[in-house]
Amino acid sequence: MADRPTLMAVHAHPDDEATGTGGILARCAAEGMRTVLVTCTDGGCGDGPGGVKPGEPGHDPAAIIEMRQRELEASCAVLNVTDLELLGYADSGMMGWASNEAPGSFWSTPVEEAAARLAELIERYRPDVVVTYDENGFYGHPDHIQAHRITMAAVAATKVPAKVYWTTAPHSQMAEFGRIMREHGADWDEAGPADLPEIGAPDEQITTWVDVTEFGEQKFDALAAHASQSENIFFLRMGKPLFTQMMGVETFIRVHDTTGAALPEDDLFAGLR
Ligand SMILES: [Zn+2]
Repeated sequence: MADRPTLMAVHAHPDDEATGTGGILARCAAEGMRTVLVTCTDGGCGDGPGGVKPGEPGHDPAAIIEMRQRELEASCAVLNVTDLELLGYADSGMMGWASNEAPGSFWSTPVEEAAARLAELIERYRPDVVVTYDENGFYGHPDHIQAHRITMAAVAATKVPAKVYWTTAPHSQMAEFGRIMREHGADWDEAGPADLPEIGAPDEQITTWVDVTEFGEQKFDALAAHASQSENIFFLRMGKPLFTQMMGVETFIRVHDTTGAALPEDDLFAGLR
């Protein structure tokens, strides 16, 4: 199916596509590429209407799964994602929750089993570039770690993509987020954690800085499609101009490359054009 350049992004939950890769998905689509989003879980451990959390009265996973799928489809429409593939595993919840080991959870699924399903998609779409998370799933969420594991296993098995990236954020950007959160904490009643854990990567480890400011509005609107999830509210409260300023460069670590494109790069398809 490699009729045109193809980007595949492998994400854990509905909404993850927007924050780290909304810009590159929109940009690649605008350039006429095929963009394949693989979402591994159903997001059933997300917030229900009104911000109700798992385990609280009124948290209805079946209704949440359906709502989140509609939100995901709306986000994909905004980003002009050409192909959405759902692996449909149950959301494992945060590390340590009983849902980690629930039957059908992504975390309890053997890596080789889920990787084989992803490998089939890689064989079908033949992506030139694949993007997923680092070994820590960026922030330690079991489904993000599992998405990383199955992607690396599927890439190794198929040897299809010319380039593979881990999405991350430079420590300088995380520090800037912390500053903004502190600044707005008093105005935004749910500004988020004031002290971010040590996540992301040292700036010097970032190999690839992609300017997506032109697509900031689409990225914001894609995230706004997932407004039911309270962790997105911090970003949405920034408003479009600040959001685009803060989120207008998407950053990656290149971990596999057959093109020899020089580093640092500003284009995931450098060496392939
Ligand atoms: Zn997630």
